[in-house]
Amino acid sequence: MWSLMSKFLHEGGIAVLDGGLATELERHGADLNDPLWSAKCLVSSPHLIRQVHIDYLENGADILITASYQATMQGFKAKGFSNEESEALLRKSVQIACEARTVYTQKCVECQYPSSHPIILKQRPILIAASVGSYGAYLADGSEFSGDYGAAITLQTLKDFHRRRVQILADSGADLLAFETVPNKIEAQAYAELLEEEDIKIPAWFSFNSKDGINVVSGDSLLECGSIAESCNKVVAVGINCTPPRLLHDLIVLLKKVSTKPIVIYPNSGENYDPERKEWVQNTGVTDEDFVTHVNKWCEAGASLVGGCCRTTPATIRGIYRTLSKQ
Ligand SMILES: [Zn+2]
Repeated sequence: MWSLMSKFLHEGGIAVLDGGLATELERHGADLNDPLWSAKCLVSSPHLIRQVHIDYLENGADILITASYQATMQGFKAKGFSNEESEALLRKSVQIACEARTVYTQKCVECQYPSSHPIILKQRPILIAASVGSYGAYLADGSEFSGDYGAAITLQTLKDFHRRRVQILADSGADLLAFETVPNKIEAQAYAELLEEEDIKIPAWFSFNSKDGINVVSGDSLLECGSIAESCNKVVAVGINCTPPRLLHDLIVLLKKVSTKPIVIYPNSGENYDPERKEWVQNTGVTDEDFVTHVNKWCEAGASLVGGCCRTTPATIRGIYRTLSKQ
């Protein structure tokens, strides 16, 4: 499936990713006040996750990112789940996205709505990207936004932390692995080595986050981080997520200096995150209209996979889809 998408991207095509998951789950009534965050819904309300996935497909997304960002073996075990149960929950995150794809594809076949209906029903390749959040995401203390893991965390610690989850997700039916919100160089290195050591059979993307438009959030050089992704054969795209839209253009230009691979970007809404209160500060970001005005500029700079991260919604994704459809 990726090879099909890859060909499309190399011919100058642009694929649309989905948008924020947690934001939408909360809008549908889920309570995510938990260290597992959106992964909590894998246990309590998988139907909501499936619905949000379907919403994104109906608004033009070609790629769904699973609800496994904060789903880790260690996090589930801390909640009292057994080894087997924890592994099953990881697989379930991919199953739910696959179900959503099946439901949506069926709707496309049956074409339940007239063409004037705002819902987008278009048969196309749909990919499932299994999300792998950073070690900092598991800590649930905001350290994926600082990249500061302390001196005790080594390359080996990180590889051991991620190993089982990566093995399971790679073998779950997902089309690719999305290593997201990578905050520092050491974690990118850990992922690259893990992909080789475990001989992972599905492709992956590495997506970093930045606060200054030059470096990743830890202060490590984006150019160095991008080079790690470039030199790993299993990495098929590299990019930026969970970063304010205003910083994206310069970051794409930087990545293009070290990468020949497709560039994936999914900025957040630009709102400020309050790490003390663990919530986004409302109305500090950009509107969907503003977000969408950047899309053509990002694609001209070299982005070929475009979506949204935290606090973006199906409306944001529909705006991206419409903008790109006009080209
Ligand atoms: Zn985000």
